[in-house]
Amino acid sequence: MDAVVLSIGDELVSGLTVNTNASWLGAQLTALGIAPRAHVTVGDQQGPIARALRKAAERCELVIVSGGLGPTDDDLTRQALAEALGEDLVEDAKARAGLEAFFACRGRKMSGSNMVQALRPASATCIENTCGTAPGLMAMLGTARVYVTPGVPREMKEMFTRSILPELQGCVGESCTLLGKLNTFGMGESMVGERIKDLMTRGANPAVGTTVHDGVVSVRIYATGARAWAADELARLRGVVNTRLGALVYGEDDDGLEAAVGQLLAARKLTLATAESCTGGLLAQLITDVPGSSRYFLRGWVTYADAAKVEELGVAPEAIARDGAVSEQVARAMATGARERAHADIGVGITGVAGPQGGTPEKPVGTVWLALATDAEVTAVRLMLPGVRAQVRQRAAQMALARLRWWLMGVDAAGVTR
Ligand code: ATP
Ligand code: MG
Repeated sequence: MDAVVLSIGDELVSGLTVNTNASWLGAQLTALGIAPRAHVTVGDQQGPIARALRKAAERCELVIVSGGLGPTDDDLTRQALAEALGEDLVEDAKARAGLEAFFACRGRKMSGSNMVQALRPASATCIENTCGTAPGLMAMLGTARVYVTPGVPREMKEMFTRSILPELQGCVGESCTLLGKLNTFGMGESMVGERIKDLMTRGANPAVGTTVHDGVVSVRIYATGARAWAADELARLRGVVNTRLGALVYGEDDDGLEAAVGQLLAARKLTLATAESCTGGLLAQLITDVPGSSRYFLRGWVTYADAAKVEELGVAPEAIARDGAVSEQVARAMATGARERAHADIGVGITGVAGPQGGTPEKPVGTVWLALATDAEVTAVRLMLPGVRAQVRQRAAQMALARLRWWLMGVDAAGVTR
């Protein structure tokens, strides 16, 4: 089965609102094994919406629409669907009762314009909206199933998950496309690509490709065919990619590096403290983004000034005077100070030049020293990170997580990225 995702709204075409509904719906359909063929966005005009509906219905078996179901004059999707079907709008008794109940139980008066939301094209059915006023719509337009959902992301997601998804599960055919995504960090996209080059032949099935987002290189696998075959192929290729990329792979789908580190720390019952300079607390934020991180994260310092490094972490003023705040010695002392003062098993220290100012020929912008202190040893590494200030900070925090993870796994960082 293939589909078109149709988004309605002037705020979307003008760029004032980011179309998050389309990406969410695209991912949902893909996961179901339905192939989204196009994402179409149209402003709040009845004629163009009706034309877009007809065109989508000629092209695909499924059309999922979001937006323009509200009570105001610029909400015209309902009328446009009626126009595309060549039908009149009729009042839906159940939808009207639902609307009246919605307002009654909130003690609010229903305006005349709200009644528009109880209308549906004659052959369409209404879909209940459990978190807003506008019911959704379902209709057959030619040979295509058309579902219309509200634009408000929360209402759209709830309606899709509760009412539309179960129906689609019942009508996806035996042939489908299954998607797998393996996330890696620590090696550039081209180097990752080199290791799996033979799997990335154009037009192959399963198809394998790479994408990059915020320094994370993801390997995507698409297998198209009978469901059981596609599932087997996906599992087989996951195995091959995992073997080729080893400890670079930290998770799948939406998994974050910070969650992978958290799982290892929790499993090994180890605790962590951080001392950050150039990342300004970003590492601590990432770590504490994970629910349950209080099990292993004890304390984090943001020691931006030299005096803070000395007073808070016990860094020797002579080391700063001799080597500078961005140096191996200072990173080591920060990691050790954090570990000891927080009584943690592991301390992390980060100090670097995030830019745009402050770079020198010896320490250009992007120079970051990263240290890890444990009961056994203190290790430090110099990173040369590309990009502007925000990227340098982000990569430094991610690299700290990646190195922490490799240490916890007992693998040699140099071996992983070689
Ligand atoms: P309402 O009853 O709120 O009018 P509606 O179905 O008419 O519902 P819209 O008016 O199109 O929906 O949008 C309502 C809100 O949802 C707006 O704030 C809009 O910016 C947001 N929204 C609409 N479509 C999208 C989308 N595709 N992605 C993200 N946000 C969206
Ligand atoms: Mg609206």
